[in-house]
Amino acid sequence: PRLTNQIAAGEVVERPASVLKELVENAIDAGSRRIELELEAGGAKLIRVRDDGSGIGAEDLPLALSRHATSKIFSLEELEEVASLGFRGEALASISSVSRLELVSNREDDPKSGWRVVAEGRQMEPRISPAPHPRGTSVIVRDLFFNTPARRKFLRTEKTEFGHAEEAFRRLALSRYDIGWVLRHNQKVIHQLRPGDDDLAREKRLGALLGKGFLDNALHLDLEASGLRLWGWVGLPTHSRAQADQQYFFVNGRVVKDRLVAHAIRQAYRDVLFHGRQPVFVLYLELDPQLVDVNVHPTKHEVRFRDGRLVHDFLFSSLHRALGETRA
Ligand code: ADP
Ligand code: MG
Repeated sequence: PRLTNQIAAGEVVERPASVLKELVENAIDAGSRRIELELEAGGAKLIRVRDDGSGIGAEDLPLALSRHATSKIFSLEELEEVASLGFRGEALASISSVSRLELVSNREDDPKSGWRVVAEGRQMEPRISPAPHPRGTSVIVRDLFFNTPARRKFLRTEKTEFGHAEEAFRRLALSRYDIGWVLRHNQKVIHQLRPGDDDLAREKRLGALLGKGFLDNALHLDLEASGLRLWGWVGLPTHSRAQADQQYFFVNGRVVKDRLVAHAIRQAYRDVLFHGRQPVFVLYLELDPQLVDVNVHPTKHEVRFRDGRLVHDFLFSSLHRALGETRA
C-alpha cells in the first residue's frame, strides 16, 4: 500500500506548492475562518498549515491518512456535483508516503483536548497520542521526498520553490476573501490578510497580493446574464513583464486554466491589446454547479462546461463591453 501511495503521490505531489494547495483545500473544506501557513526552505524542509475548522475526532485521525478515506462524498450524485474542493481522499495518504507527516487536531472547544498522529515514510500503522490543540487542525509536513531521492532531485532552489508556493497561496487567498490568512517563510511574515467580503476589503487584498499597480489600471465589473455571473477586475494592458502572469480566473471558487475561457478573454481583449502587452485580470465566474464539471483532473485546473458556447459568449460579451468602457 505504501508503494501505491507513493505512485499516487506522483500524481498529486509535485513540489511543496502542491502540498500547500492540498492542505489548504482541506482546511477550507473544514469550514475554517482563519488559516495560517508556515514554510521553511521553500517548503522542502517544513510546511505547516494550521486552521480553526471542524477538527478531526480521535477515531478518525488514522483514517484520514489512509487511501481513499474521504469524509466528503456520501453518494454518487454528490460525486458528480463535487461542490467541495477535495478529490477522492488521496492527498493526505499520498503526502504522508513521501514525507514525515504529523497531524494534530481537536474537534472540541476545550483547548486542552486534542490528538496527534505521526506517519513517517514506511510506517504502516499510525498510532495516536494526546496532544492539546485549539479547535481545528494542524498538518505538519517535514522533509518532503526524504525517501524518494529521485523526486527530491527535481526540487529547484529555495527561492523558486517558495515562488511556486506563494503563487499557490495567492490563488487560494484570492478564492476566499472571507477567510483570514497568514503566510510565513523562514520565520518572516510574507502575507497577513484580514478577512472581509466587501469591495474595500477585497481591493485591499488584491493590492497586498498583486501590488498596488494592479488596481491603478484595473476596472471593476459585475455582470449577470442567463444564470451566469462574472465579477472581478480586468486590467488594461501594461508593458510590465512582471505583471504578465497576473491572470487569475476562478470558476465557482476554483482556479481554472481553460482553453475556452482563455480564448474568450483573448478575443475580448483583441481590440485593446498592443504588441508585447499582456492582459491582467482577476475574474470570478459563478454558475450552477450542475453546468460545469470541475473534477476532470485533480491538479490540472481544467473544467468542462455543459454549454461551452453559452459560457464563451457570455465571457466575451461581458469583457468586451467592460473593456470598451475603459477606452471611452
Ligand atoms: P479528501 O480531501 O479528498 O477527502 P484528503 O486525503 O485530503 O482527502 O483528506 C482525508 C480526510 O481527512 C478528509 O476527508 C477529512 O475528513 C480529513 N481532513 C484532512 N484535513 C483536514 C482538516 N484540515 N480539517 C478537518 N478534516 C481534515
Ligand atoms: Mg483533500
